[in-house]
Amino acid sequence: VEWTPEKGWHDARITPYGPLTLDPATAVLHYAQETFEGMKAYRHADGSVWTFRPEANAERMARSSVRLALPVLPVEDFVAAVDALIKVDERWVPDSEGEKSLYIRPFMIATERFLGVRPSQHVTFMVIASPAGSYFKGGIKPVSLWLTTEYSRAGRGGMGAAKTGGNYASSLVAQQEATANGCDQVVFLDSEEATYVEELGGMNMYFVFADGRIATPATGTILEGITRASIIKIAESLGYTVEERRLSIDEWRDGVTSGEIKEIFACGTAAVVTPVGALKWDGGEVPQAGDGSSELTNKIRSALVDIQFGRGEDAFGWMHQVC
Ligand code: PMP
Repeated sequence: VEWTPEKGWHDARITPYGPLTLDPATAVLHYAQETFEGMKAYRHADGSVWTFRPEANAERMARSSVRLALPVLPVEDFVAAVDALIKVDERWVPDSEGEKSLYIRPFMIATERFLGVRPSQHVTFMVIASPAGSYFKGGIKPVSLWLTTEYSRAGRGGMGAAKTGGNYASSLVAQQEATANGCDQVVFLDSEEATYVEELGGMNMYFVFADGRIATPATGTILEGITRASIIKIAESLGYTVEERRLSIDEWRDGVTSGEIKEIFACGTAAVVTPVGALKWDGGEVPQAGDGSSELTNKIRSALVDIQFGRGEDAFGWMHQVC
C-alpha cells in the first residue's frame, strides 16, 4: 500500500514475494524512517486460522508512526492487509502441534527519493510472512541474561516506545556483548540513572513476589509489548495485583537473595512467556529466582497459549478469525 500527501493511502496490492527495487537515495536507507510490527497467525484444531489482538498491533504501529513522522494507517486497513496476506499464505500456517505458527511482519518505510532530512513524502506499507517454529528448540528453558552497563536502549524524549529499526540498531552491540558472555539476551537499564530495569533486547519483564504481588517495569521508554499488556489482564483474572512501576537492579538482586522475588519471567510474541535464569554482568551475578519451579510463569504461559491456539476460552475477546 502506497502513501503520498496528495492521494493518502492507495494502490493496495498483493504481489509475489521477491526483492524490492529501491533508488540508492531512498530516504529510509539513510535516515531509518520506518516502523514495524511482529505478530503471528495460529491454526486451531478445527483448521480455522486466527490472529491475536491484531488491532493492538495496528494501534501500536500508529503510535510508532506518529513518533517517526510517518502517516497513520487506519486500524481496519492494517488488519485487512494482514488478513489478505494470511489468506494467500494460509497453507503455511502449521497446525497447533508444537506451537508452530506463521510469523507476520508488517512494516512501513519512507520511500521518497530525497536526501534532505525531513519526513518522506512517499511512504510504503508492506506485510511479509514466514513460517515460524517454536522459539525453544528442545523444550522451554530459562533465558540467561546479560546486564549491559555501557549501553542504553532509549532515553526520555527518545523513541524507546516506538517499534522502529533504529532502536534495534542501537541494541545490536549490547546483544553482541551478551552473546560473547554466553548469555541469551541483554537487559537494558534506564538511561538517566542506570538503575531501573527497562526490558530485554526483544522481550518485556515480569517479577513475581512471594506475597503474591507481580511487578513489571512501567511504560514510557520501553516497547509496550502486546504480550505484556495481555499478561496484566490474565494475571488480574487469576486474582493477582499487577504493579506497573520502576524496579531497580538492587531490588532484583536483593529480592532474589532474600527469597522475596520467587519468579522472574520475560514475554513477547516469539517466546510467549519464558522463565528468566541467572543475570550476569561484568563482575557480578544474580542466580535464577526461587526454586526454578516457575509455577505462575507456566500457568500464565499456558493460559495465553491456550487462548492463542483455541484450546481455552477467549474470555477477553482477543482472537480475530482470518479464515
Ligand atoms: N520489547 C522489545 C524491545 C521487543 O522487540 C519486543 C518484541 N516485539 C517486546 C518487548 C515484546 O513485545 P510483544 O509482546 O508485542 O511481542
